[in-house]
Amino acid sequence: MLDLSTVRPASAAAFERAKAVIPGGVNSPARAFGGVGGSPLFIARADGPFLFDLDGNRYLDFIGSWGPMILGHCHPAVVEATIAALKNGSSYGAPCELETRLAEMVIDAVSSVEMVRFVSSGTEATMSAIRLARGFTGRDLVIKFAGCYHGHVDSLLVSAGSSALTLGVPNSPGVPVGCTQDTIVLKFNDTAALAEVFAAKGDKIAGVILEPIVGNMGLVPPTAEFHRELRQLTQKHGTLLIYDEVMTGFRLGYGGAQELLGDKPDLSCFGKIIGGGYPVGAYGGRADIMKKIMPAGPVFQAGTLSGNPVAMAAGIATLNELKVNPPYPRLEEQSKRIGEGLLKAAASANVPVQFNRVGSMWTLFFTDTPVSDLDTAKTSDTKRFGRFFWEMMDRGVYLPCSQFEAAFTCGAMTDEHIATTIQAGAESFQAVAKG
Ligand code: PLP
Repeated sequence: MLDLSTVRPASAAAFERAKAVIPGGVNSPARAFGGVGGSPLFIARADGPFLFDLDGNRYLDFIGSWGPMILGHCHPAVVEATIAALKNGSSYGAPCELETRLAEMVIDAVSSVEMVRFVSSGTEATMSAIRLARGFTGRDLVIKFAGCYHGHVDSLLVSAGSSALTLGVPNSPGVPVGCTQDTIVLKFNDTAALAEVFAAKGDKIAGVILEPIVGNMGLVPPTAEFHRELRQLTQKHGTLLIYDEVMTGFRLGYGGAQELLGDKPDLSCFGKIIGGGYPVGAYGGRADIMKKIMPAGPVFQAGTLSGNPVAMAAGIATLNELKVNPPYPRLEEQSKRIGEGLLKAAASANVPVQFNRVGSMWTLFFTDTPVSDLDTAKTSDTKRFGRFFWEMMDRGVYLPCSQFEAAFTCGAMTDEHIATTIQAGAESFQAVAKG
């Protein structure tokens, strides 16, 4: 573990102070650097592709607030729209037109979405979508996949790796078994297990929820067969197919993963990018299903700050920018270049890695096994990953602080930043190879 007290003393002191008053010193566990054996940077400010820590160090930011900052930090259009909205008041607890405008933009972007409801986080979006699926179908069972993360919803916090047909066991104290006993956990990309569960229980399954392209076990793409089977089986059994696009929505294209894959789920969940860096989540889909939500229908869901005008304005400005000046082709090209550069550097340092990537989401797994699900992701040498992470950090490149997360390239990065990243990678692999 790096001794932050000498290398980054202001961050180290801030972390000590925070730990006295905030559990673990952080307000979300992924920020605590537990996966890389150290303690976190404390951030003073951010600008474009950069984060600046309390010690005045500058880092190229490949976390981007875990996904939202696709345009980079402080994009002028987003800053301007947010300030303008703030001046009109920060929350009304009554409807405003900004909510309708952002809803129209989401519906315009994502062809499977006919109506949308805003909430304040991705967790709320998935939790509400599951409730709606159960309310709409009158069924209880839900299928999720090992390694997919859908926020800290009780019923979806189920131990990863459970085998087909076994019912879920909670993987956090405080989640009663009763909350997860209707959750079935299957292996991602396992078409046979999916078919088996539907054959046994198809008429009792309310919904299948998944990250259509997974970011939360590191980046793991689906097979075409898996998605085809998902759509066919759910349609055949009257089960709702729910895409959790909290991470992939507006990231892998303006229409999200479903546009890329050519799929049409019944419900979709969003978060991260649609709030432009502010707390927004959303769920949407077929109008006949969405009309079951209160007050149009009987399924209860509410929120004091839902549709917050400042957050809506930031979301509108972000989506507008993504539509008018789409960064996607350049993000694809730059991320591809990062992959090619890192793979070449790893090979010349003799460090076995896999580079999984879709668009601007990517993960470097420290394993010689191709990664297609949680089991294969877990073959990674996490110690080596941790060493690589700190070597990159010391060269001013801030990667996700866990092997099992996706990195995000952002629209504010230039070709020079990409070259810097590859050069830092080459030096870091050499250091890792030395042990
Ligand atoms: N779904 C996915 C795919 C996510 O990646 C996340 C968060 O990382 C969530 C849901 C939960 O979103 P939030 O952290 O905004 O509650």
